[in-house]
Amino acid sequence: DESKLILENKMAAIGELATGMAHEIRNPLGLIRSYSYLIRNAQPQAVTAQPETIASYLTVIDNSIERANTIISNLLNFSRLSGDERDTFNLHALGTELFALGKKTYEIAGIETALDVPETLLLHSNLESMKHILINLLSNAIDAMPDGGTLKLASTTKGRDAFITVSDTGEGISDEHIKSLFLPFFTTKGPNKGTGLGLYIVYNEVQKLGGEISVKTKLGEGTAFTVRLRGVV
Ligand code: ADP
Repeated sequence: DESKLILENKMAAIGELATGMAHEIRNPLGLIRSYSYLIRNAQPQAVTAQPETIASYLTVIDNSIERANTIISNLLNFSRLSGDERDTFNLHALGTELFALGKKTYEIAGIETALDVPETLLLHSNLESMKHILINLLSNAIDAMPDGGTLKLASTTKGRDAFITVSDTGEGISDEHIKSLFLPFFTTKGPNKGTGLGLYIVYNEVQKLGGEISVKTKLGEGTAFTVRLRGVV
């Protein structure tokens, strides 16, 4: 139906944005590397060692830094695009919908799903943001379980706050990687698979909702990301 289509387009859009950004940021970085190499390795008598030439190389470096900066700013703006209107939605229904969309993937990967969300729970928050957040967390959880496992979406409430947890029984995250998790372009999945923008987008969306995100993980046992949303119940 229509909502499925919107969701699928959204997923494709996230993927495209991510690949595009990663690609674009590599170009200015490559220029910076090449021109700093030329400056550093210039032979004293060569044309490349003359002050004018070096000045022109430095200009290329400056422009490349400017370019990379612009790309990052655009990415920040992307997360402001969806409005901060509040919707009222049923988290159990949303979880059911997302699990249904991924059914094939889960079957192939040998992943069991569990939905531990009260059927009657209504949240007052931005639905588009919530979808961005969940889609990214779920897709990371799947990647973390190449040999299968359990993927769980759970929620609890405390007063008017909601705690939404996506957990997996996958590989876990090392201490070394924990501090970089939410940085844009941080990925351990290799250049063709990971873009390093998923958790960055998640972080931005959570911020936009005025919430917090935390992670609990154990190597070889699994990972749980919990989003706390204030005043949404
Ligand atoms: P990407 O998925 O493109 O790598 P993300 O920003 O979504 O980018 O994630 C960054 C990195 O965080 C991943 O490459 C992975 O190393 C780690 N990560 C994220 N979620 C999980 C998870 N559930 N289990 C293990 N590692 C994870």
